[in-house]
Amino acid sequence: MQGINDKFPHLPQRISGLRDLAYNLWWSWHPEGRGLFKLLSRQGWYLSNHNPVKMLNRLSKEVLEAACADPHFLRHYDAVMARFESYMDISSSWFCAHVADPKDCTIAYFSAEYGLHHALPFYAGGLGFLAGDFLKECSDLGIPLVAVGFMYPQGYLRQMISSDGWQVGACEMLDRENAPIRKMLGADGNPIMIKVPVMDPPIYLEVWKVQVGKTSLYLIDTSSDANEPWNRVISDRLYTGDLEQRLRQEIVLGIGGVRILQALGVDYTVLHLNEGHPAFAVLERIREMVESGIGFRDALDAVQRTTVFTTHTPVPAGHDVFSYHLMDKYFGTYLPALDLSREEFFRLGTNPAKPDGFNMTAFAMRVSAYLNAVSKKHGEVTRQMWRQLWPDIAEENVPIDYITNGVHVPSWIDRRLGDVIFNRYLGRTWLEEHEQKSIWELVDDIPDNILWEHHNAMKSMLIAKIRERAREKWQISGSDPRLVMASGVMLDPAALTLGFARRFASYKRPTLLLQDLTRLQRIIDDPWRPVQIIFAGKAHQDDQQSKLLLQSVFNVAKEQAFGGRIAFVEDYDELLAQYMVHGVDVWVNNPLPPMEASGTSGMKATLNGVPQLSVMDGWWIEGYNGKNGWAVLGAPEGEDRDERDASAMYDLLEKEIVPLYYDVDEDGISHGWVKVMKETIKMTGPNFSARRMAKEYTEKFYRKAIEASMKAEFGRGRGGGRARSDLFEKI
Ligand SMILES: *Cc1c(COP(=O)(O)O)cnc(C)c1O
Repeated sequence: MQGINDKFPHLPQRISGLRDLAYNLWWSWHPEGRGLFKLLSRQGWYLSNHNPVKMLNRLSKEVLEAACADPHFLRHYDAVMARFESYMDISSSWFCAHVADPKDCTIAYFSAEYGLHHALPFYAGGLGFLAGDFLKECSDLGIPLVAVGFMYPQGYLRQMISSDGWQVGACEMLDRENAPIRKMLGADGNPIMIKVPVMDPPIYLEVWKVQVGKTSLYLIDTSSDANEPWNRVISDRLYTGDLEQRLRQEIVLGIGGVRILQALGVDYTVLHLNEGHPAFAVLERIREMVESGIGFRDALDAVQRTTVFTTHTPVPAGHDVFSYHLMDKYFGTYLPALDLSREEFFRLGTNPAKPDGFNMTAFAMRVSAYLNAVSKKHGEVTRQMWRQLWPDIAEENVPIDYITNGVHVPSWIDRRLGDVIFNRYLGRTWLEEHEQKSIWELVDDIPDNILWEHHNAMKSMLIAKIRERAREKWQISGSDPRLVMASGVMLDPAALTLGFARRFASYKRPTLLLQDLTRLQRIIDDPWRPVQIIFAGKAHQDDQQSKLLLQSVFNVAKEQAFGGRIAFVEDYDELLAQYMVHGVDVWVNNPLPPMEASGTSGMKATLNGVPQLSVMDGWWIEGYNGKNGWAVLGAPEGEDRDERDASAMYDLLEKEIVPLYYDVDEDGISHGWVKVMKETIKMTGPNFSARRMAKEYTEKFYRKAIEASMKAEFGRGRGGGRARSDLFEKI
């Protein structure tokens, strides 16, 4: 049905399994998978930017036939294919053994973005990587999840900085033929085409599939010629600033997404909304039930008891509010099919504290039985922020739980650290058992010189990568030498290196370290103990304020006085993130508390033994233990918060971090530093993995929602889940 057999026509029969392998992102977190493609053609792998589909499209028939005649390659091919097949067998999975037969309980997961691999630019930042890591982990555990999202053909913003420091990005079209995605075809061999019910003129959706191990991800594409020109651009790119377009996106994602699963025959029991964007999915689920003769109240009740909603941010811009006028325009003809009045519908989406429109978060919270924030602190903040939805309940009893985010360990661990060092000192099965605390205690047995040398090698690789990019840029655009200096060519592998890399948004305070340039220069310019800072990150194209922040950072990087020790590296993406979280010495994180719901990039760094210097917000409140990095105890509030937070960071750098890093023994190693590195790994491995997180979602929510739906099938439509019907009596 998926029409991939016509791909790679040159591929000989003997190694035709490479076709399935290339289209399954399994290779992206299994080194043996990547190794097989590298073995096929090292140069092809490099030139394709580590993308096997692109590589197989380009390799000549001769190369493929030669591989077929090479016993060494074939041995590896057979071994890798056997592992791949055994991985894909769901019957031996954790979920199957501990929860239920996956056949009976699919979970439909909806998210506006997914960060899976740099070849698939369908993400803006943390939310996307969280979703991507979650899909991979669900695959590893055999959690029967099917995911829905968007194929943003213009998702990739190629960031370029002009000589005055202004981000002048251009969107690059996704090369669909060369990406590991395939279009879903119907029985007639034509692309399947699904109509979104609400819209007039109608919108038709085509669907692409990404195979993420055992998890299927379906991506919506509105670019079909069957659509009116203004509808073709709905899925063009993430988070447009135009509210009407955004509403149309969310209708397409939520309602269209449910239609797609229906058309593909995906039967699911649980719906998981990752953030408020896809919440209209609930309506379409209800509509399906109403159509089959169930009344609205009962349908809502049944849907609610099997719906999970995860909220990801306290930042106001993260909560979409649509005007009633816009809602009328799009939902006028849809509501009758739900047996729902306009007033009742709007009440479901009203935020009593600010009743200025239809609030997607308020709506999602009212229609889901299982609600969670993404760290302990974020749980408190969210309960406070939304307590008005439960006016009769004390704030601490507001039914919003938390599940702290985690990162997918196989995706973010450096391969050498995992395969060579951990395999040796933690035991060969460390990865399979990585949520066990006791395994990580063995990190203390790693000889200091091994960890130190490994890290220095990673740092050299990062700096080499940055220089390679700078050289390319200079060769191609022949830019102003000062721009080249600012892009990191003067970085020194021997200097203490701080990294700040993430989406540029004002609450993340990217310029905080630059508050007092005189003091910073004293820290950086110490001839005996030099310090350097690498910045990277993109600003949203419509966000002028963040572009100004980026410009300030860039202009400081350009200043001769800093001697190239402050660098801004363009085009932050998954690949650069890998180099950065493995290669810098300290990961810097200084958002404005309590705006960072969790943060995950710091977990990627600490997993690799890179300690964090962070304000106390998000996951760091749970992660920091006094031995594994540094906590910035600045100002809890007040006008001069930035100043005081910055000053606390300089203090830590001057008094603790720099002295510790340069306190090297005769063997050239700072043993005190390596101790901190070990503590970071020991804390992150068991506590902040996507495995711990996915198991928590399963135990806290999925299991109960599955039970609730089973009970409903055997009789009455109640029980299970959190009883939330009282809420609806009031509307
Ligand atoms: C992990 C990751 C993020 C999230 O970073 P935070 O600092 O946690 O917001 C953003 N972008 C990329 C490329 C990432 O890998």
